[in-house]
Amino acid sequence: MTTASHPVKLTKQFKTKSGSDVSIATGTGTKWKKDAKDDDINQELVDQILLALKLGFRHIDTAEVYNTQAEVGEAVKQSGIPREELWITTKYNPGWRTISASSASPSASIDKALKQLDTDYIDLYLIHQPFFTEESTHGYTLEDVWNVLIDYKKQGKIREIGVSNFAQEHIERLKKISEPEFYPVVNQIESHPFLQDQSKGITEYSQANGILVEAFSPLTPVSRVEKNALTGYLDELSKKYNKTGGQILLRWTLQRGILPITTSAKEDRIKEALDVFDFELTQEEFDKIAEIGKENPHRVFFHDEFKDL
Ligand code: NDP
Repeated sequence: MTTASHPVKLTKQFKTKSGSDVSIATGTGTKWKKDAKDDDINQELVDQILLALKLGFRHIDTAEVYNTQAEVGEAVKQSGIPREELWITTKYNPGWRTISASSASPSASIDKALKQLDTDYIDLYLIHQPFFTEESTHGYTLEDVWNVLIDYKKQGKIREIGVSNFAQEHIERLKKISEPEFYPVVNQIESHPFLQDQSKGITEYSQANGILVEAFSPLTPVSRVEKNALTGYLDELSKKYNKTGGQILLRWTLQRGILPITTSAKEDRIKEALDVFDFELTQEEFDKIAEIGKENPHRVFFHDEFKDL
């Protein structure tokens, strides 16, 4: 018996250096985030990343502010997987509210990432969020930070540059000061049925501008909101496709042309997350998830920051 294959068409497709398509990512934030002062390697996280790699993940998401770059570097080394077969994303922490940027400058942040990841290049480097001040970055405006990223891309130390938690107005600021070849190519945002646009029209705007949307917290309806308006319908679809509610949500995200970033400490769920390419939701099912989701808004991160965006 052959398994039907239903590949998804992301609105923009990246390739690892070895030429493989970049797909769903395993995250090292949220549950794994370490205190900034904690220099010890978290062996449990190293093992977790190693397991995800063993089971087939090739795309890892980390960030300066999670303080998990060293664990990613260690797991990659131990895995024996050639670097060029992996896609590693990390992010500059520009500071937030009363907390300053982790590094003295954006270039110090990138140099630290290269060192901790123990790599010559980063596949994708993002500005973690736009809600910072020149004071928090020790003197860098959003435009200054972007110019540093462009410089590292020119040097080949970063392959692709992008943003996270950006609204349209923030992206426009970067486009104003860049040549088209240095426009952001990814916007990583909170995205799930209960929050289909982190800021007004951002998904459509990003996709129309050649920016791949990456979804963080794509499993919110099954992981963060107890029994909710989608539960019954996800159960129905789970039975029909013999998939879990989590898999239905990941598939729904992919069918929006969005790349999901997910996290699990459980082997079964890690496997499940990679097993979402052999079925396809019908247009009606896809629309119904969107419709129920829209009627039940729920935002997990950055409530105040997105009040007027
Ligand atoms: P998810 O939506 O994938 O949530 C993961 C959580 O869901 C885990 O705690 C997991 O628990 C649980 N889970 C997994 N499968 C199921 C299931 N079938 N039913 C119920 N619960 C389930 O993503 P995260 O919010 O963890 O974010 C993913 C990554 O995105 C982060 O690690 C980070 O890399 C990135 N991120 C980026 C942000 C940004 O500002 N750019 C902000 C937040 C996250 P268990 O381990 O028990 O399976």
